[in-house]
Parts: sequence; C-alpha cells; structure tokens
Amino acid sequence: MCIICKGGNLKGIKDLDCSYCPYLTNIPVIKGLQILDCCHCPSLTNIPVIKGLQVIKCCHCPLLTNIPVIKGLDSLFCSSCPLLTNIPAIKGLQIYSSYCPLLINIPVIKGLQVNCYNCTWLNIDNPNFNNNVNKLIVLQRLFKKILLSKKLKKLIPQLMQIYYHPDAKGGYLDKRNLCEFIEKINFLSEPRVCD
Ligand SMILES: [Zn+2]
Repeated sequence: MCIICKGGNLKGIKDLDCSYCPYLTNIPVIKGLQILDCCHCPSLTNIPVIKGLQVIKCCHCPLLTNIPVIKGLDSLFCSSCPLLTNIPAIKGLQIYSSYCPLLINIPVIKGLQVNCYNCTWLNIDNPNFNNNVNKLIVLQRLFKKILLSKKLKKLIPQLMQIYYHPDAKGGYLDKRNLCEFIEKINFLSEPRVCD
C-alpha cells in the first residue's frame, strides 16, 4: 500500500513514489510535487493537473485513459497503458511510450520528442504499422458491407409495400398477371365446337 492510501503526510513532498499499489484509484493534487511515479497501479484511473509537475511515470496502468495537460511537464513515461488514446500537446515534452495499443495520436508540436516503439497505430518505430493498417482496412470494408446489408434487410418490408401498391410497377405487373390468368380460364371454359 502506498503513502496516499495509508493517509500519510504528503505536504512538501517533491518526489512521490506510489507505484505497485493495487488500491490507488486517484492521486490528490499535491502542491510542489515535481516527480510522480505511479507505474503498475491497476486501479488508477486518473492523474490530476498538478502545477509544476515535471515528470510523470505511469507505465503499466491498465485503467488510465488520459494524461492531463500540465504546462512545463518535461518527461512522460507511459508505456504499456492499454487504454491510453491521447497524449497532450505540451511544448518541449519528451514522451517515452511503447506498447500502447490504443494510442492513435501524438500531437505535432515544436520541441516534442517522441521515443516510442510498437504502438499499434503509430507509424513510429513500428515494423507492423502497414500490416496493421491493411488489416484494419479489410475489417472496415467487411463491417461496412455487414451494416449495409442490415440496413437493406430493415428496408425490405417498406419497399415491398411501395412496390406492390396498385399504382406502382409491382402492383401493375401483378394486376396484369391476374388479368392474363382470368383470360386463360375464360378461354379454357368456352364451349368448343368439336365437343
Ligand atoms: Zn496506494
């Protein structure tokens, strides 16, 4: 259990290590904190905006979805965060992110340094990037077809009514077939001379 969960005194602390704590869900705003290490915290969902914070180490946090915009943040270590989708645009930030499967966006900002590899959807040191994108395209096309066929199936009952309306083409063809059928019956039932 970490110092936060124990209810310890956090006043004046500059370097906080609360890593490997299974109970930690939230980090309080700690005035003057410069370095935060909260790696391997399986219940952590959120990192607050802490003014003056310079380093965040939050690797292997499976529930972490977001990194806040903290002006002046210098280094961010966020490898193996499976739900992380975005990294904030902070000038001069050094990012160390690897194995983040949902990370799709790294901001284009002057002075940003990105050290990352094997993030599924980033084209940075990722030998599988093209392969991943090609697979995604195939899947997207497949799902597009499935969705379209579902839409059409829903529409069919309405289209049937429109098509077979007496004034529409289907209705006209149906009426014509019916007339032809009746004419045939009349012809067959007419008395014949030979009989
Ligand atoms: Zn804790």
